[in-house]
Order: sequence, then C-alpha cells, then structure tokens
Amino acid sequence: MGVKNIYLLDFGILSGELGWFLPDPAGWTETAVEKKPKMPVWTDIPVTGAVIEHSDGIILMDTGSHPEAKKVWGPVWEVFPMTKFTDENRLENQLKLIGLKPEDIHYVVFTHLHLDHAGQAYHFKDLNTPLIAHKKELMWATYLMYLGKTGAYQPVDLEALKGGSWFTFDGETFELLPGVDLMFVGGHTPGSIIIKVTTEAGNNYLFTGDFIHLPEELERESKGWLLGDVDEYITGLRKIKLLARRPRTNLVISHDPKLWEKYPKAPKALK
Ligand SMILES: [Zn+2]
Repeated sequence: MGVKNIYLLDFGILSGELGWFLPDPAGWTETAVEKKPKMPVWTDIPVTGAVIEHSDGIILMDTGSHPEAKKVWGPVWEVFPMTKFTDENRLENQLKLIGLKPEDIHYVVFTHLHLDHAGQAYHFKDLNTPLIAHKKELMWATYLMYLGKTGAYQPVDLEALKGGSWFTFDGETFELLPGVDLMFVGGHTPGSIIIKVTTEAGNNYLFTGDFIHLPEELERESKGWLLGDVDEYITGLRKIKLLARRPRTNLVISHDPKLWEKYPKAPKALK
C-alpha cells in the first residue's frame, strides 16, 4: 500500500533570461572590467507537474500556466513568455494520457503559487478538490495581490481559486499520505516547498519545485534574480544535498530543459 506510480506532466515551455536562474550567466562581472558588453542569454524552461498515484488517493502536484497566458498575464509575459503551449499541454489532456479526468484527483498540491504552477488549478475549485499549500505561500501570494505587486503571482489564477477548498500547513513537514512528505524550504518564495515521494518499490524522489530551477545551482550554491531569501536558500540546499545522499534517492529538477528531455513523461511512469 502506498505510491504505485509517478507520472510527469508536460505543461509547455516558458522562456526567460538565464540570469533569473543562475548568477551572472553571460559573464557581466568580468565584462564590467573588460568594458565589453555581452548579450543576455535566454533559456527554455519546461513547465511541468506530476501525478502521484497512491493507494489512498491521487495527488496532482502543480498545474502549469493559464492556457490564455498571453492574454491574461499582462506585462510579465514580456519577461517570461510561454513559447510553447498547445492543446496537448492543457491539464485535462495531460491527465487523459494516463486515463484520468480532473474529477479523479483527490488532492492538488502546490510547490508554490507562481504563474507557471497555479495557472490551471481553476479546474478544481468547483470540484471542491482540496488545494494544499504552505500557509506562508497562500498568505504571501494574497498579500501581494492586495498590494497590487504581483510579479510572478497572477491575480487571474488566485481570483479563480478564491473560496476553493484550501488547506494549508504550517511548520517544517506535513505527511500528506504515507510516503508523500511536503517539506518547507522557502528560499525562492516565502512558502516554497519540496516534495519527497517514496514509492512502494522503495525509490525516493525529491521534487525540488522552483527551489532549484537548474542543477548548476546545486554546485554553485547560488541562484540568479529569482533568489528570495538567501539564508533559507543555503539551509535548504544543504538539506536537499543531505537527503540526496540516501540510497535510491533521485532529485527531480523539472524546470531544467536538458533533464526534462531525459525524464520519462506521461503516459510513461518514473522508474
Ligand atoms: Zn516555476
């Protein structure tokens, strides 16, 4: 009894300047000395989610971007355009690949509430599906919305979920179901979490959400402009590195374009 399968979902591709994720990717620091301007470097960022098929319920982790992002996002589109989104990337069609409908989902968990994670969660409001986030994340996202300073949070996403069946947890760790642990890390946003999943077969997967966008961050122990809290970031990175030393433990860094290409995606399950 426990986690039977994990499926990765493909919600399209977002693009952005690499400096959001890695410090100084174009070598600007060096350039200031050499007085040779360098071009910004852009990268593709796959937008992803996952279905965790557990004997006690089906969990959806993150919901991708709003299908009408270009229309509804406002100026943030210029910074993070969705450069690929087709019908195939719609939540309902990704679920269809594994024989599911939104009605079949028992829990929706958000690693955080940014525009590429909460954009298709509107499917679940009228279904009364539990929507689960760290308390600090929901508080921060709604607070910023009221201040009119949303940035990577989208009012269109949050408005759609007002009155939904929200559940929040506080503190460090919450076991959603046996083998599925939601772990607070902060660092990127004030309520960012990572998710540790242990399968029936005894494999551990650590979903790093946006706490780690690219694997280079692990080596360099630093992040670009998307760094939130440096204390939480360094502490969280070391925590992840310790967890990663456990046997049969894999990190899933799903925003990385090279890793994403290699991961098996729905309808295939993670091995
Ligand atoms: Zn993201």
